[in-house]
Amino acid sequence: MSKHYDMIAIGGGSGGLSAPERAALYGKKTAVIEARELGGTCVNVGCVPKKVMWFGAQIAHALEMAPKYGFKLQVSGHDWATLKAAREKYIGGILGWYGNYLADSNIDHIKGWARFVDAHTVEVNGERYTADHIVIAPGSKPVVLPIEGAELGITSDGFFALDDCPGHCAVIGGGYIGVELAGVLRALGCQVTVVLREEADFLPGFDALLRQVAMDELLKQGINIHTNGGAAKLARSADGSIALTGRDGITMSGFEQVIWAIGREPNTDDLNLGAAGIETDARGFIATDEYQNTNVPGVYAVGDATGRAPLTPVAIAAARRLSDRLFGGKPDRKLDYDNIPTVVFSHPPMGTVGMTEAVARDKHGDAVKIYTTRFSPMYYAPTEHKVDTAMKLVCVGADEKVVGIHMIGDGVDEMLQGFAVALKMGATKRDLDDTVALHPTSAEELVTLR
Ligand SMILES: Cc1cc2nc3c(=O)[nH]c(=O)nc-3n(C[C@H](O)[C@H](O)[C@H](O)COP(=O)(O)OP(=O)(O)OC[C@H]3O[C@@H](n4cnc5c(N)ncnc54)[C@H](O)[C@@H]3O)c2cc1C
Repeated sequence: MSKHYDMIAIGGGSGGLSAPERAALYGKKTAVIEARELGGTCVNVGCVPKKVMWFGAQIAHALEMAPKYGFKLQVSGHDWATLKAAREKYIGGILGWYGNYLADSNIDHIKGWARFVDAHTVEVNGERYTADHIVIAPGSKPVVLPIEGAELGITSDGFFALDDCPGHCAVIGGGYIGVELAGVLRALGCQVTVVLREEADFLPGFDALLRQVAMDELLKQGINIHTNGGAAKLARSADGSIALTGRDGITMSGFEQVIWAIGREPNTDDLNLGAAGIETDARGFIATDEYQNTNVPGVYAVGDATGRAPLTPVAIAAARRLSDRLFGGKPDRKLDYDNIPTVVFSHPPMGTVGMTEAVARDKHGDAVKIYTTRFSPMYYAPTEHKVDTAMKLVCVGADEKVVGIHMIGDGVDEMLQGFAVALKMGATKRDLDDTVALHPTSAEELVTLR
């Protein structure tokens, strides 16, 4: 006999945990199906381990500055294994917390891989479970090009499994994950080449100012950027290293690791979506409307598998709002996918919310007014080695409503959240001008732009 629930979530990551958690608060009987560790990509092989590595890289940059501030230091290298152990201990603590979290929240944990039997039934390890509402949240997985020798490369998952810092590494792809991993590796001592199909592959979708400054900073750090029309072949050399040949015919050799960072695809292959009649879009992502409904009544999708704004807080927010709508008496509750802030943990970090200048000009033409600044923060006063900060405000109309905020520089990762609230509330340039500056900070530049 099958077991029945009000809601079942497939996937125990950011989205899959959040929908039943909220439903359980409304007294609903819920379950999460997850075969691997709870927490999904973010906790295990995404945001969390990435941010720990980024902190390590930030310390490497601070150590370079330390003598300029009078410190007499002798740094004799970096021990990757120590950093990895600390990172895994931290993640272990989060996973330990999950142990009680589901039980304490009155959520059943069904361990295994789910497959649809029909729109209201899933099968896990031969057992059948039914639910009035099924939330699909299986996340995404890294894309690897089907080229000769592709298996010689690792993905971001493999990056987190590394036991030491490779001496020489190629990162294929210039999206945010590629840029972040390249920055960490470089700061911790690796020689890095970022391999792009074309220049447009470098941080696509970000404002041109940020892309330019980020590129400048990567080059200043000694990261090599090679545009090769796309990777065509990986091969093992006699000395054990990996050689990468591009579509331009040029072979670069001597890589200890090659990292695929060319994007992610939905993790839906084994779900048997067809049995429930669930439609996917042309790229295989689960098609959803603005309320996270799939084409099948009672079946919803949230998170990366929907192909929309693949970020942890987005998956969580969409899932919680879905349960509010289904069980909380809030029939209109849904996530507004506009103006979602996002940060790239590069060195220095980037933060962005709202329209880029190009998008705003496409949409609003001459009604767009741009304010920009580029400067070297006071932190770098004692050194010749400056790291730039740049900021752009995109404003529209006579009242100069702020529709985009784009920043790169030390501290912008923490700075953006508050400014994102202002933008979401409809702030105008005048509102920013009327806000008294915090001095001396980099943030004050945003309220004093001319
Ligand atoms: C390297 C990296 C860095 C990132 N950094 C950030 C960041 O800084 N900030 C940010 O906001 N986002 C970041 N992200 C993105 C973030 O991790 C994802 O957006 C988020 O995890 C998506 O949540 P989700 O619930 O959709 O899927 P996931 O968290 O991936 O969870 C999906 C879960 O479903 C399980 N599953 C899949 N199929 C089945 C099945 N058939 N049965 C049962 N279980 C199944 C999987 O095992 C997995 O645990 C990063 C991602 C990566 C890869």
